[in-house]
Amino acid sequence: MNWPPRWLLNRLSPGGPEARLHVLLHHRVVAEEQPLVSGLSEAGFAWQLELLMRHFNVLPLAEAVSLYLDGRLPPRAVCVTFDDGFADTLNLAMPIAERAGVPITVFVATRYLNGGIMFNDRVADALRRTRQRSLDLSEIGLGRFDIDGDVSRAQAFQRIVDAIKYRTVEERLALAEAIADRAEVDRPASLMLDDEGLRALHRKGAEIGAHTHGHPILALCDDDEARREIGEGKRRLESILDAPVRLFAYPNGKPERDFTARDVELVREAGFDAAFSTGGGAMPSPPDAFRLPRYTPWDRTEMRYLARLLRYGR
Ligand SMILES: [Zn+2]
Repeated sequence: MNWPPRWLLNRLSPGGPEARLHVLLHHRVVAEEQPLVSGLSEAGFAWQLELLMRHFNVLPLAEAVSLYLDGRLPPRAVCVTFDDGFADTLNLAMPIAERAGVPITVFVATRYLNGGIMFNDRVADALRRTRQRSLDLSEIGLGRFDIDGDVSRAQAFQRIVDAIKYRTVEERLALAEAIADRAEVDRPASLMLDDEGLRALHRKGAEIGAHTHGHPILALCDDDEARREIGEGKRRLESILDAPVRLFAYPNGKPERDFTARDVELVREAGFDAAFSTGGGAMPSPPDAFRLPRYTPWDRTEMRYLARLLRYGR
């Protein structure tokens, strides 16, 4: 496809001091899309990367940040990132990225490596696999849910996650276990990387970034806890990889709601070079390596996907 022409793309996403760096955020890549799994199919991820390689300058994240800080980003600059440390990042996403020649960065929450599960994945898995058609969670303060079809399960999932997302890490994990218990669903096989898988991803050329230890909402942590979460994630990754970890992504990542100026300072103090939010809007002005936005282009057709990237370029 020769449309849109290169000159038009350069106008929409120019380089230099005015450049927009498109940092794309992904979670899972799965063999086939399923209800309650937030991820792309292998085929979907493959065409997205082909489209990026055809129309954009796809860069390794650390290199893009340093070009950005120097005002020397090329036009149409794109980086591809994954969050949390899922095993399918190694098993399904990495082979596709390698074939396409796309460098990826993976932000890993260390607590869930080696058999852990994040609270939202535990809840999603319980709702997907339960044999019950309704779920009474009023004893744990969450109310009753009909879960007799894909739509009602998705609605229940959203309501439950919204209700517990802003609790502490320990509360969220305990509630997720209590929900799975009532749904009578045992623990799924591990979704996350183990240490060896993380090292394999790194050896294949993925950059590994930190994402705290337990994936808390940093804005809700006191100073000590926020400092510990940020530092521990970095230390554990460096000890597994025996390599420095220089990039950080704020969990959840909405500026002001999920992290504040205090957390930006703590991330800087911990020795990172750059940090990424999920505040998909404009580039920070003046340039700020610790508030770089990321977003997820969720469109399922090439033209809409491209249009979204270009719209974020304005
Ligand atoms: Zn995350």
